[in-house]
Amino acid sequence: MKTIISVKNLRKSYGPFEAVKGISFDVYVGEIFGLLGPNGAGKSTTLEIIETLREKSGGEVIVDGINLDKEPGRIKKIIGVQLQSSGYYPGLKLVELIDLFGGLYNQPVNPRELLKLVNLEDKARSQFKELSGGQKQRFSIATTLINKPKIIFLDEPTTGLDPQARRNLWDLIRDIRAKGATVIITTHYMDEAEQLCDRIAIIDEGQIISIDSPDKMIDDLVNTGFERPKQVKSASLEDVFIHLTGKAMRDE
Ligand code: ADP
Ligand code: MG
Repeated sequence: MKTIISVKNLRKSYGPFEAVKGISFDVYVGEIFGLLGPNGAGKSTTLEIIETLREKSGGEVIVDGINLDKEPGRIKKIIGVQLQSSGYYPGLKLVELIDLFGGLYNQPVNPRELLKLVNLEDKARSQFKELSGGQKQRFSIATTLINKPKIIFLDEPTTGLDPQARRNLWDLIRDIRAKGATVIITTHYMDEAEQLCDRIAIIDEGQIISIDSPDKMIDDLVNTGFERPKQVKSASLEDVFIHLTGKAMRDE
């Protein structure tokens, strides 16, 4: 396994409050790596430091061999960061927004091709504000791909989406990885992390409390003698919902 991100003893204080308390982890080339943890655990802080958007208080971050302290500008060029959708000009058409981003990144970009990648080619002439929640998320992922990044950061990309849109986004994230990118994602949905992530780190109160594949973590818990209090059925309510309503997206 080749390491693409190496974080060592990372610390971040906001005034007297220590939000990240010396965490260390590696992300391997081509994996989907999940950062899980309760609200306030320090996930976004950690991501934003690696993304060069936030100053750290201590520790070392190396991204694709580049030291964050020495050459943050070089890191910026090889990563894609999903911005909060509120940051867009709501009245611009999708093609116009992509041209705008291409200009910001100083990258030649084919808006139609990019929109096709995220299944939004039919919406090229729509304004951002006219999109559904799932479409907005897909569009914001498209904008992270403009500079053909080696690493893509997605902070809670599926929060608030319906089950169909969530599955559609999982497919998109898998596609991006299949094309060779490394993906780092945060989520509060454990089924999503289980389906999507090769490895996850569980972070709580600024510390990593476990890091492994989802499968290994579940086996480890079962091996302690843990059993679910209730008889597990072979389907979940979400399975029922998808079975009844189908997998097709509703907001196209
Ligand atoms: P998560 O993404 O895991 O929910 P965050 O990284 O956003 O957590 O926040 C971690 C902690 O740091 C929280 O207690 C939050 O209130 C605090 N925090 C985040 N950003 C700031 C800031 N700019 N100023 C002060 N405290 C902050
Ligand atoms: Mg967060």
